[in-house]
Order: sequence, then structure tokens, then C-alpha cells
Amino acid sequence: MTALTYRPLAAQDAERLALYSDPDTCPADALVPVPLIQEPAFISWQQDIPRAYLEMAPEELDVRISRARAALGTKLVILGHHYQRDEVIKYADFTGDSFKLSQHAAAQEHAEFVLFCGVHFMAESADILTNPGVRVILPNMAAGCSMADMADPDDVYAAWDEITGILGDEATVIPLTYMNSAASLKSFVGERNGIVCTSSNAQKTFAWAFERGDKILFFPDQHLGRNTGYQMGIPLEDMVLWNWRIPSGGLTPDQIRKAKVILWQGHCSTHQRFSVEQIKKAREEHPGVNVIVHPECRWEVVQAADDYGSTEKIIKAVSEAPAGTTWAVGTEINLVNRLARQNPDKTVFCLDPVVCPCSTMYRIHPAYIAWVLEGLVQGHVVNEIIVDQETRKWSLVALERMLALP
Ligand code: SF4
Repeated sequence: MTALTYRPLAAQDAERLALYSDPDTCPADALVPVPLIQEPAFISWQQDIPRAYLEMAPEELDVRISRARAALGTKLVILGHHYQRDEVIKYADFTGDSFKLSQHAAAQEHAEFVLFCGVHFMAESADILTNPGVRVILPNMAAGCSMADMADPDDVYAAWDEITGILGDEATVIPLTYMNSAASLKSFVGERNGIVCTSSNAQKTFAWAFERGDKILFFPDQHLGRNTGYQMGIPLEDMVLWNWRIPSGGLTPDQIRKAKVILWQGHCSTHQRFSVEQIKKAREEHPGVNVIVHPECRWEVVQAADDYGSTEKIIKAVSEAPAGTTWAVGTEINLVNRLARQNPDKTVFCLDPVVCPCSTMYRIHPAYIAWVLEGLVQGHVVNEIIVDQETRKWSLVALERMLALP
């Protein structure tokens, strides 16, 4: 069976994505289960799903998925990212953020198939970390990540050549990529003495890098890089921004020589929506509120919050808080809604009043799960993610450096 290749965000997709990222058009009822054909953005999702699945009602899909899971038994493990919608996360054998899921993927030695309900870069990492005999499936091949797409490998290679060319023997740069990047970039950093990080361990990876070099080139998320560097005592003026849209990143050789951290100009469209104004409003309307945000939020938002951290840290903070406390959370809406339901003794709400899921995580619809699982039952593997051997080799080096951190 031929593995489909990942289709990066095309111009028409970007238009459809506006549905979910523009506060004026984001559908507030987007989280209600509907047949695939009724999803407003389906036009930009994987199209070669058989037509029979398009109109299936949520109840029918539930029956078919449950039946296929039972038939596959222990051959199948389903991993679900916290940002998945409820009607998907309920099938997950393991849930987690990208770091926790990478650990779960690495632990799968006996399964034949890992169904990854998340986005493309996560499924690639799962393929790299699992035994070669474990086949990783992504339900919808259009489930990418707009942040990962902001670091085009050719742009990164060109930036690297330019930066290292300017520095020569004066200083050593360590490349550091966020988990949210293509496997080819993980391979790139692995081959150049770099490392991968997640939002759970970014500080540890910065410390690891500064033990081995003088500067860090961090991609693709400028905000995680800036927030991490600042937390470690690096002044904002020592962190410069490489704008990949303009020559030399918009930086002078002198700026590059003086910088401790060179940040790629990428961002998460979901987390960049949170603002200082929203925090002020939450504090006015809920005196005593605890504000916690994800480090993919802007620096000023993180500074205005009471705390920040990875998705796992946010879940722990809210879950372990005393009854009666109030939490304004700056992260993806599916997770915040779930946290609110799981903590009925607390008040939990999203900082952003407009209900917008991560538009690419949202592309995992139960119809795709039913399609790929029923295919597996019949012996057909669709949507397999296969990372080539050379990319796998160096990506694994970079990922294992991360997983080995204390
Ligand atoms: S939440 Fe942001 S970083 Fe995560 S998959 Fe969605 S766009 Fe990418």
C-alpha cells in the first residue's frame, strides 16, 4: 500500500483556515459533532476518503470505530493529543502533550499499528521513535501544523549557512528545534550537534545547548524560545528575531555576533490569540483568578500571567488546585473545556472569549478514524507515515538526546 505524502498548507487552505482563526468568523458551534460533510472546512481536508463516510452520523461512526477497535484488539494502540476534540479523544488508549505522547510512542513494542490522533509532525516523531515493525497512521493527512509550516527546511538550511558563515570560528551555534517541526529539521539538528525540545523541557534543552556552544538558533516558535531564554536570565535584547521572509533575516552581521539566541519568526496561531487585555479583563471580572498560559503565548502575555507551562503542567496545576479556585487558561479550547468538566468544583474558563480550536488538530474527524480502522481490519493500510532511513537516523539522535535529559 502506498503511503500518502503530507500536503503542506496551500493558499486555498489558508483561506479556509481563516474560518477558525479570525475572531469575527470562527464558528462558536464548531465543537458540536457533525457528519464530516457538514464541517465548514472539510474542503481543505484530505479528500480521498470514500464518499460513504461523509454523511455518517456521529452515532454510526461511534459504532463502526468501536467495532473496528475490538476486531484489531492489541494490534492497535491509539494515541490522542490533548487538543483533540472530545469525540476523538475518547478513543485514545493514551493521552498527552507532544512530549508525553512521544514517550508513549517509544514504549510501543508489541503493537502492529499506532493510530496517532494529533498532527503530522507528531506522527512523524512516533514513526521515528517506534520499532520499525510498528506502523504509524495519521487519520487525516491534511492535519499539519501552521507553526511547523513556518519553518521551511530550505529556509532554515539557508539561514544556518548564513549565520555560521558570519560567525566563522568566533562562536559556536547550537541548532535547537521545537518538537513542532518537520522530521527533516529534527534530522538537521541531530546531525549538527543540536537537540529537539518540547514545551515541557525547553529550559533543560537550552542549558544543554549552552554547555556545548555560545549561541542557540531556535526554530520555529519565537515565543517559546523567547519565554525560555528570558526565564533563564537572558535579556530580551540578547535575543534577536530572524525574519525568514526577508534577506539575511533582517539582521546585520553585528546583531548576529552580539546575540545569545537567534529566534525564528514563527508562531502558533492558536496561542498567539491570547492577549494582555484578556488577562486584565479576567482579573477585573474574577477577582482572585489564577491565570495560567502556554509558553507559545507572546512574552508580554506570559509576563502578565501568574504562571505558564506546557499542557501537562497546566492540567496538573488546575487539577491539583483547591476546590473553589478560579482559573483563566490560555491554551487550546478543547483542552480547556475538558478541564472545566473534569474540575466541577472549580471555575475554569478560556482566556479567549471566542471559541476557536486549533484548526489543524480539528481536522481529525471520527469519519477519518472509522475509515482507516476499517481499512486495517480488512488488511489495507492507509495514511501510513513513513520517515525515510537517513532522516530517521539523525532525527532519532536529536530526539534521544532530548529523552535522555534528566
Ligand atoms: S496548537 Fe499551534 S503549535 Fe499546536 S498543532 Fe495547533 S497550530 Fe500547531
